[in-house]
Amino acid sequence: RPERKSTYEVAQIGGDGIGPEVINAGVQAIHAVAKKIGTFTVNFMELDWSSDRYKRSGKYVPEDYIEILHRYDAILFGAVGAPDVPDHVSLWGLRLAICQPHMYANVRRTKVLPGISSPLKGLSPGDLDWCIIRENSEGEYAGHGGRSHRGLEHEIGTEVTIFTRTAIRRIARYAFQVARSRPRKLLTYVTKSNAMRNGMVLWDEVIKEVAKEFPDVTMDHMLVDAMTVRMTLQPKSLDTILATNLHADILSDLAAALAGSIGIAPTANIDPSRTMPSMFEPIHGSAFDITGMGVANPVGTFWSACEMLDWLGESEASQLLMEAIEKTCADGIKTRDLGGNANTQEVTNAVIERIEAL
Ligand code: ATP
Ligand code: MG
Repeated sequence: RPERKSTYEVAQIGGDGIGPEVINAGVQAIHAVAKKIGTFTVNFMELDWSSDRYKRSGKYVPEDYIEILHRYDAILFGAVGAPDVPDHVSLWGLRLAICQPHMYANVRRTKVLPGISSPLKGLSPGDLDWCIIRENSEGEYAGHGGRSHRGLEHEIGTEVTIFTRTAIRRIARYAFQVARSRPRKLLTYVTKSNAMRNGMVLWDEVIKEVAKEFPDVTMDHMLVDAMTVRMTLQPKSLDTILATNLHADILSDLAAALAGSIGIAPTANIDPSRTMPSMFEPIHGSAFDITGMGVANPVGTFWSACEMLDWLGESEASQLLMEAIEKTCADGIKTRDLGGNANTQEVTNAVIERIEAL
């Protein structure tokens, strides 16, 4: 647990598309919850790191961006991606530039919220209570590889997946710790070690070694293809889930869809060593189709703000905000992606009212 402070400094990076809209909503909710608790305040510093900045200056982030980020206790991040910048340029320019060096654990919680219907039949609020841990520093997104014979019929592109014992061991330990902290103490780890016989087999071996340190956690193993079936047909059989960068990326989108909408799901990019501030962001992207219309669902950002407050040690504030989100959803105050007709600010106001009333 970190030492609690009276003032937290948070870097606010709205980014692109609906990112600044949902982050603006998140900042309002955090101020409201801090005021209600009364023991701390949060100072936000807005950083204009975005595709607009890239188009103006050729860079998403300043040269000394790592030193800049060191000044903050946490980062609240919106989204990155613009219609006129290739996705691999924007993603590597901003999100991965910030996360890959230190934030090796990507944590995605999923739960069916009250008032939100899952496409799966027979699930009640609170069901599908999963915590997906994604290896966030290497693997399939290591960025290694190359292209040769460009433009020719025999052109080759390689994408080299890199798995290291060190990175597997540290993410496995983190996942076991998360599993241990949850009531069911159940960890399912996912690989594809039947078809991929090198790095994936290394995952299996290292995880089995780490499991010996956590005899109180029940562990099972799934191949990623079978895992999609189990998530859909036996969702209540799962709790904490550990997978590689690519596998967990895909499984967590499935998880968000099964919980009702990608507009509500949160992400935490954690540096467990606390050397760097950790980064909290909604799972969704920049969604240019609804940008500027004021209808973006802010719930994914609110939930990410809960994760941020919890990571900072403000668990009471985190729980209060989560309760206010759940009450707002239960009362049917929802954006149109959830079948409602409230806009972003109306949902934000409703959450703030409930924070004040709790
Ligand atoms: P990116 O390229 O950054 O991933 P995207 O345009 O692909 O962004 P996503 O965020 O992945 O958009 O979402 C896909 C679609 O889901 C969007 O086009 C949008 O209609 C809808 N959507 C996403 N997030 C939200 C949200 N917060 N509120 C309402 N609708 C959303
Ligand atoms: Mg997308």
